Amino acid sequence: MARGIIQHELNHALGFLHENSRSDRDNYITVNYRNVKPGMENNFDIQDGTTLDLPYDYSSVMHYDKFAFTINPNLPTISTIPNPNVQVGQRDGLSVLDVEKINKLYNCDVSSRLFNTPSGRFSSANYPNSYPDNMNYVFLIRTPDGQVALTFNDFDLQSSPECTSDYIRIYDGPSRRAPILLNNTCGPAQIPTVIGSTNQMLMEFVSDGAISSKGFSASYNTVPCGGTFFTATYNITSPGYISGSYFPNLNCYFTIYAPTGYKVALTFNDFDLQSSPECTSDYIRIYDGPSRRAPILLNNTCGPAQIPTVIGSTNQMLMEFVSDSAISSKGFSASYNTGKD
Ligand SMILES: [Zn+2]
Repeated sequence: MARGIIQHELNHALGFLHENSRSDRDNYITVNYRNVKPGMENNFDIQDGTTLDLPYDYSSVMHYDKFAFTINPNLPTISTIPNPNVQVGQRDGLSVLDVEKINKLYNCDVSSRLFNTPSGRFSSANYPNSYPDNMNYVFLIRTPDGQVALTFNDFDLQSSPECTSDYIRIYDGPSRRAPILLNNTCGPAQIPTVIGSTNQMLMEFVSDGAISSKGFSASYNTVPCGGTFFTATYNITSPGYISGSYFPNLNCYFTIYAPTGYKVALTFNDFDLQSSPECTSDYIRIYDGPSRRAPILLNNTCGPAQIPTVIGSTNQMLMEFVSDSAISSKGFSASYNTGKD
């Protein structure tokens, strides 16, 4: 069952009616009763209730689609006005306003925010002044497609041993049950761009009762590939590796991030990229640091190749994978280890 359908039914349990039953819905939609299956008309009744003084939401997970209860799949029962092309009936998940309505109805100042555009920016409360004490803030980023890439432009949280006082933690998915991408992080820190494996990323921001700092300012966007890895070891494959060939026109960044004092060793178990003179068409390139400004460890490499294990001199390593518009090969499968020597 789609996540959005589960959220729709749970929202009924929380007291929410269909968005298209709101008292003001006739300003936003027209119900075409002649297309409604006989006996089903009451599903389109306007219901008593409050709008919570929040706007009508075509993108609500509580909105019917245009063909709900139709007699004929080509005849809509709901038309949006004045613009007939507005989409309704999505079941991808709660909309930004759905979240706001739940928080308003239940007087939650907990603070959760949903971002569902392809890119955006946000910051901690009161930024650049101190954030509040004792809060537990949750940010969910859900881009329409691709993978979420999150960049901190500024980051300064109260320091504590193992970051148990104030911290952020990032999950590789929509809930706290998803794998942890970045564990408790605090202090003034330089965090590399964090790329998740899907279009959803959850970030928790917790503060205790004492000492606040400036907080953070972050921005996110959508990337077609790549990843950021904080675990001690992991397998990295090129996009499409399992299906036998990578996609054209890729520009992927894989960043491996080991604890301070550790080094990264990357080993290719399989490597086959389109061959070209000087490897300018499809290639990988590896940097001895977190950005393309770092020294190059392995310059453009392509073709079927046996590559010796690449060992960096710092705790961060960036691998760039580029493919052009023509000819794809199998790609690569690599694994890394982190260690003190
Ligand atoms: Zn319903």
